[in-house]
Amino acid sequence: MENQETKGIDFRCYLRHYPDAQGYFGRFGGAYVPAELEPAFKEITQAYHSICHSAQFINELRRIRREFQGRPTPVYHCERLSRLNGGAQIYLKREDLNHTGAHKLNHCMGEGLLAKYMGKKKMIAETGAGQHGVALATAAAYFGLECEIHMGEVDIAKQAPNVTRMRMLGAKVVCVTKGQKTLKEAVDSAFEAYLRDYKTAIYCIGSVLGPHPFPLMVRDFQKVVGDEAREQFIEMTGILPDVVCAAVGGGSNSMGMFPAFLNDPVELVGVEPLGRGDGVGENAATMAFGTEGVMHGFNSIMLKDTNGEPAPAYSVASGLDYPGVGPEHAFLRDVGRVSYATVSDDEAVDAFFKLTRCEGIIPALESAHAVAYAMRRAKEMGTGAILANCSGRGDKDVDFVAEHYGFGEDR
Ligand SMILES: *Cc1c(COP(=O)(O)O)cnc(C)c1O
Repeated sequence: MENQETKGIDFRCYLRHYPDAQGYFGRFGGAYVPAELEPAFKEITQAYHSICHSAQFINELRRIRREFQGRPTPVYHCERLSRLNGGAQIYLKREDLNHTGAHKLNHCMGEGLLAKYMGKKKMIAETGAGQHGVALATAAAYFGLECEIHMGEVDIAKQAPNVTRMRMLGAKVVCVTKGQKTLKEAVDSAFEAYLRDYKTAIYCIGSVLGPHPFPLMVRDFQKVVGDEAREQFIEMTGILPDVVCAAVGGGSNSMGMFPAFLNDPVELVGVEPLGRGDGVGENAATMAFGTEGVMHGFNSIMLKDTNGEPAPAYSVASGLDYPGVGPEHAFLRDVGRVSYATVSDDEAVDAFFKLTRCEGIIPALESAHAVAYAMRRAKEMGTGAILANCSGRGDKDVDFVAEHYGFGEDR
C-alpha cells in the first residue's frame, strides 16, 4: 500500500509495532479497568508476552490446531455461485469446518493453553448468543479446566441449544438477572466474578475487544486464518485475491483474515450488519453510525444512545449485534487501510439461501453477511477474485431461518 494513503505506516512490520506497550492502536484500545483489576490484566499481559514466543507454546498450539481443531481449513472456489452471480470469482475460507463450527475456537484454544501455562484452574467469560460460551467450554474441557459462563436470562431463554451444549461440556452457566438481562449485564457479572477469583482464574473475552491485552491476544490467535488463506489462495490460483472481506461483529474473524494481507495490494473490507435499517436500535453497523468512546474497558468506535451510553444493537445474526468494534478496526479505518461496508438482514438471508442452494454450504447468518458483500462486489467488478471468510456454519440458524423465511424455494 502507498504510504501517503496509510499515514506512513509500514505494514511490513506492522504486527510488531501495533498495539504499543500500553495496548494502543493509535489512540484506540488501552485498558480502562477498575483499579482492583489492574494487576490481573497486567499479569495476563506479562504471561502472554513471555509465553507466546516460546517454542514449546507455539508447537503445542500448532499440534492442537492440526489434531484437535482439524486445521488447516480449506479455501473453496464457489464456481456455481460465481457463475450464477455473474461477475468476479468468489472464494471462501472455510472456518465453518473448524471444530465446533466457527472461528471462535481459534482464540479460545490459545487462551486455554495460556491458562494452562499460567497454572490457572478456571476460565471465566460472558456470552451473548452463546457461541463464545460453547467455544470456551470446549477449550476448558480439552484442557481439564473449570469453566464459568455468565449469560443474561433473556439470552439463556433465546439460545437454549447453546446453553445445553455448554452444560454438556461441563461449564457452569451463571444466569444474570440484573437490568436488561442481556450481554452488557453479563459482562459486568463476569468481571465481578473475575475480581473475586483472579488468582486462580483467567478471564477470556470472545472477540478482539476489551482491555489490553485481549485485542492483541485474540488477533494473534486468530491470525492463523489469514496466514493459511493467503498461502492456500496463492497455491490455488498463483495470484492474490483483489478483495478480502469478512463480517464484523466485535471483529475477530476479520482480524484473523486481514493481517496476512496488510502489506499486499489487496482491498480489505469489513462487513457490518445494517439489520432492518439506519435507525437507532435497528442495526449494529458501528463504523457507519458510531462515534468514539470508552466502553467495556477500551477506547474505540461505538454506537451510543442519546445519553452517550452503549445503544441497543440489532442484527438477524445475533453474533454481530454488538454496539462496538475492536480498537484495531477503528485504527485501520482511520489510517485508510481497511474500509467498512454494510449488508442488511434481507441481503444476508438471500446470500444464506444462495450459498446453501448453489454450493451445499449452509453458512452462519453472520458469515452470510460476508458472502452477500462478496456477491455484490463480484457483480460490480465483473472480473477478478474475492475471498470471503465463511466464519461459521449455519446449523444453529436453520430453524430460525425456516420459521421466518421458509426454505428458499422461491429465490
Ligand atoms: C461470533 C461470530 C461472529 C462475529 O464475531 P467477530 O468477533 O466479529 O468475528 C461472526 N461469525 C460467527 C460464525 C460467529 O460465531
